[in-house]
Amino acid sequence: MVEVSLFADILTLKEALEFDLMIQTEKDYMLTSCCCPVWIQMIRKLHPELLKKVPGSVSPMVACGRVVKRLVPGAITVFVGPCLAKKAEAREADVADAIDHVLTFKEVADLFEAARIDPADIPTDLREHSSFAGRIYAVSKGVSEAVAVTLDRIRPDKPIKVKAVQADGVPECKRLLDDLEQGKTTANFLEGMGCAGGCVGGPRSLIDRAVATAKVRDYAVQALYPTPIDNPYVVELLQRLGIRTIEELLEDQEVFARHL
Ligand code: SF4
Repeated sequence: MVEVSLFADILTLKEALEFDLMIQTEKDYMLTSCCCPVWIQMIRKLHPELLKKVPGSVSPMVACGRVVKRLVPGAITVFVGPCLAKKAEAREADVADAIDHVLTFKEVADLFEAARIDPADIPTDLREHSSFAGRIYAVSKGVSEAVAVTLDRIRPDKPIKVKAVQADGVPECKRLLDDLEQGKTTANFLEGMGCAGGCVGGPRSLIDRAVATAKVRDYAVQALYPTPIDNPYVVELLQRLGIRTIEELLEDQEVFARHL
C-alpha cells in the first residue's frame, strides 16, 4: 500500500518549479490543479485556450501508478479514493498505463465487510511518507497552500509570491474561469476542485465533509516535514527514478509530465 500524498508531494515540487518558470511578471498567471480530472475537463471543454496556462502534469494518482509499475515490474495497481471521476481519468489514453483499477472508499468498505475485515484490527503503518504539503491536497485551497510554502522553501528570494484564488464545486469553478476570461481576477495562481470542499467532499467519501476536512488538516499538521524538499522519501524516490536534482523534474517527460 502506498500513500498517494507522497506523489502529491512530488507534483507540488513540480508545480512550484513551474510557477518559478512561468511567473516572471505581475501579469503572468497559471492554473492548477492537475489532481482533479473534473477541473481539467472543464478547462478543456469550456476554455481550451487556457490549457497553455496549465503546467502539463499528471495527477498524483497517475504518478503513483507509473512509479509503482516502474519499481515493481508486473505490479497491478489499484487506486482507492472518494472520487468517481478517477475511474474515467484512469482510462484516458495518454495515462492509461498507470492504474489498472479504481475503487471508491465505499466499494472498499463493501469488500471489507463481505470479507469480514475490520481495518481497525490491522496494525497502523507509522512510516512518514508525505509532507504537510502533499497531505493538504485533499482539501480545497490545499494545493495553493502546498505550492506557496514549497516555493518559499526552494526560491525564498523570488520577488513574486503565490497570489492564489480558489474555486470548489463545478459552478464555482465555471465562475472562476469566466472571471479569468473577463479579466476580473488579479491572482497569479488559480486552483479549481470539482467537488465542494475539495476531495474531502468527493461523492464516495464515507464521512461528513467537515469532519473529513478537520481530519485531513490534523493529519497534515502532524507531518514531520513541512515541504516535499524536506521529505527524504521524495529525494530517495526521485533518485531511484534517475532524477538527481529537483530542476531535473521539469525535464522528465515519461513519468510526471502530460501534454494537455
Ligand atoms: S475534487 Fe472531487 S472530482 Fe476532483 S479529484 Fe477530488 S474527489 Fe475527484
